[in-house]
Amino acid sequence: MKYRVCLTSIGVLAVVLCAQTAWSAAQSDAVTRAMAHDIFKQLIEINTTDSIGSTTVAAQAMAKRLLDAGFPKADVVVMGPNDRKGNMVARYRGKAGSTLRPILIIGHLDVVEARREDWTTDPFQFVEQGGYYYGRGTQDMKVSDAIAVTDFIRLKNEGYVPNRDIILALTADEEGGKSNGVDWLLKNHRDLIDAEFALNPDSGGVVTDQGKPLTVEFEATEKLYADFQVLATNPGGHSSLPKPDNAIYHVADALAVLEKSPFPFELNAVTREYFAQMATIETGQTAADLHAILGASPDPAAIQRLSKDARYNSTMRTTCVATMLSGGHAPNALPQRAEANVNCRIFPGHSQEDIRTQLVQMFNDPKLTVRYRSDAGELTDHGSDRKAMTPPPLRTDVMNSLRTVSAKLWPGAPVIPTMMTGSSDSIYTMSAGIPSYGIDGVAVDRDDVRMHGKDERVKVDSYYTGVEFYYEFLKALTTGKR
Ligand SMILES: [Zn+2]
Repeated sequence: MKYRVCLTSIGVLAVVLCAQTAWSAAQSDAVTRAMAHDIFKQLIEINTTDSIGSTTVAAQAMAKRLLDAGFPKADVVVMGPNDRKGNMVARYRGKAGSTLRPILIIGHLDVVEARREDWTTDPFQFVEQGGYYYGRGTQDMKVSDAIAVTDFIRLKNEGYVPNRDIILALTADEEGGKSNGVDWLLKNHRDLIDAEFALNPDSGGVVTDQGKPLTVEFEATEKLYADFQVLATNPGGHSSLPKPDNAIYHVADALAVLEKSPFPFELNAVTREYFAQMATIETGQTAADLHAILGASPDPAAIQRLSKDARYNSTMRTTCVATMLSGGHAPNALPQRAEANVNCRIFPGHSQEDIRTQLVQMFNDPKLTVRYRSDAGELTDHGSDRKAMTPPPLRTDVMNSLRTVSAKLWPGAPVIPTMMTGSSDSIYTMSAGIPSYGIDGVAVDRDDVRMHGKDERVKVDSYYTGVEFYYEFLKALTTGKR
């Protein structure tokens, strides 16, 4: 739009100069920048950990920002199952009479615990240093919550009217806790957040190498999480009289089998596209191997070589790995009990129970039990039969908008669909029949991923470009009739 105004008013010769001026003006819009800064700072400095924090305080602060910007009272609510686990839902009204169903943006307000003594700076202070913003949530994911609130206000101030409603839900307990906000809203106030599809900036993002954009990744599907307890019990006895039947050996043998028994190679529409794109980015043997796994009969040697890369390995199969181990009760006694926790990330299309059964077969030891362990720590003989979601269709409106805006902000970096190897709140929206896409415009250097870790930080420039990204992206998605 700005380009066109320039063209007609100043003339063709000024096109290039004018385009640049318009672009840098947009980038350095001082009002937006100041607002974006303040919102980000405010969110980081409200403690939203499960232990002592409150998402309600953060939800109310963001609600106030939106109300102050002129959003009607009826369209901004804070609600939740208890005082500390509030969620904010705000509705940006689209064109009156639009028949298009809303777009939902979800973002979690809670953050992983962070201890002052582990950090160089105070994790709950917003600190700018050496071109970075530091603080818990600067990557995961208050950065994106701040971006969404900023852009809601910015669009509102401009008088922008989207072609459909856009709903923003900022929620509790994604990282832990018992009151997951997306789940709670879907169960108790589905009407408030019901949508044609959802955007979740908790995944996806711009991968850079020393600031140079490599890829723009968006999450189109994700793996399913499951913990299993592998347990052996035994009457035990005196350790001076060992018997062949030993609880620790049963568990140790099972884990040794697990280590050497990778789950089968699999592809789906999303991972196929991901590997195809990576084949054009990688070089040498890796590129050749990526091509070799995409053919009609994938080359086992190529699969094996690529499996050494943790990300590729995790993208091509279900993974199960031992994460905790305990056993025995005295140095001079035969163990009466040994147990391990096996953590699985399940490829879409399989259920927890499928994988539990496969582990039982793999261990092939009647002395062992393999039980599903819920997030709350309860053990059951069966896992859920719910399968990880098969990928939703890659909507052309989402894809085209993403490609257009990415090409402008990160020219040359291909847009790549990915399967998240962890899991996010999209599991709830997807289960509720709302196709969900992980789209985030915050660039992070590939060797600087600090989510959940110490000294979490984001580049100052990445943040403001992220503000620009969602602004442009939402506009691209909601302009026009369709
Ligand atoms: Zn997160």
